[in-house]
Amino acid sequence: MASKMKVEHVELGFVEEADENDLTSHNFPSKVGGKPAWLSLSNLPSPDQVTCLICGDVMIFLMQVYAPDEEKDVAFHRILYLFICRNPSCCVPNSNNNIVVYRSQLGRYNNFYSSEPPEKSSRTVKGPTAEKYQPLCCVCGSSGPKRCSKCQRRSYCSKKHQVMDWKNGHKATCSKPSNKIIDYFFINDDGIKPSELLFPEFELVTEPENYKDSEKEKSETEKMEELNEFMKSEKAESLLQGVSSEDIEKMANKEEDEVFLYFRKRTQHEPEQVLRYNKGGCPLWVSKENSPSDTDIPKCEECGSDRQFEFQVMPQLLNFLKVDSLEKSIDWGTLCVYTCKDSCDIGSRYSKEFVWKQDFSPNKS
Ligand SMILES: [Zn+2]
Ligand SMILES: [Zn+2]
Ligand SMILES: [Zn+2]
Ligand SMILES: [Zn+2]
Repeated sequence: MASKMKVEHVELGFVEEADENDLTSHNFPSKVGGKPAWLSLSNLPSPDQVTCLICGDVMIFLMQVYAPDEEKDVAFHRILYLFICRNPSCCVPNSNNNIVVYRSQLGRYNNFYSSEPPEKSSRTVKGPTAEKYQPLCCVCGSSGPKRCSKCQRRSYCSKKHQVMDWKNGHKATCSKPSNKIIDYFFINDDGIKPSELLFPEFELVTEPENYKDSEKEKSETEKMEELNEFMKSEKAESLLQGVSSEDIEKMANKEEDEVFLYFRKRTQHEPEQVLRYNKGGCPLWVSKENSPSDTDIPKCEECGSDRQFEFQVMPQLLNFLKVDSLEKSIDWGTLCVYTCKDSCDIGSRYSKEFVWKQDFSPNKS
């Protein structure tokens, strides 16, 4: 936990249109949407490891954040990946069952990339891809161990994505389509096109937060203490004279308003921020309810070290994902990512980290 005196240094993330050639693995991008630009090109998470715990569908790539750990040679390159289930009904308030986060890291000298940073002029040069090491799902870009049994040329993470691909073009291009396979594939048709399945692709660029305010150094606890002090004071007592119990309840809820109002205040100067990166710091909560206690954050499953807060995804990102609909859609107040404090050595594997989803209180959204 950050001490009260620590001056917070927060990097804000914004989405920007980008050339997809710049968002490939060997450019080590931070990005939103499209297919993942895998850092370690081998040992990708299997479809089982990115499966929604609620509906059983393979989750879709949401974003990745390039965040090397300068203190660790084994994390000279380091990227955190977030995946989310595309099914809106799996989005349950304050539950992280539809989201997963993975960490990948590599030393400067590794099996995949040059030890020198990519040159600007080489950005259009094709670099190595994960496809060289294992088949990738041609629909979502995750590991694709299943293959079209007819042509053996296209790979998939799941039957669902195979059906999508069949219906949206592969039926015409597969070498030997047969009626049998068509009948089979038309089961479970949910009408989503692959182009609608992936989120729109953007580069994620960061800049330091420039927030000047007397409130800046106050922690949430301090603000809560101030409010409690006020509630105990004579002024509050006189204010409470002749107030209905309903109103008192409203005032009690004001505590929550304070957290939400501070969230609004802190973000309104940069309303387009989609990410707040503040490793080892404190998240900016959107509600006083459903923030985790220390025991809610599990230790690293690899090394047993504590996990610390690293970054949070802001609700503003939803505006760029084209998920709005009149019915229920994917939603969050904030997604807080906690990672192994030690960036422990995981070789070329992908290691699961922890995400906490906090939603706005029902009366705020
Ligand atoms: Zn789901
Ligand atoms: Zn897939
Ligand atoms: Zn085929
Ligand atoms: Zn660890």
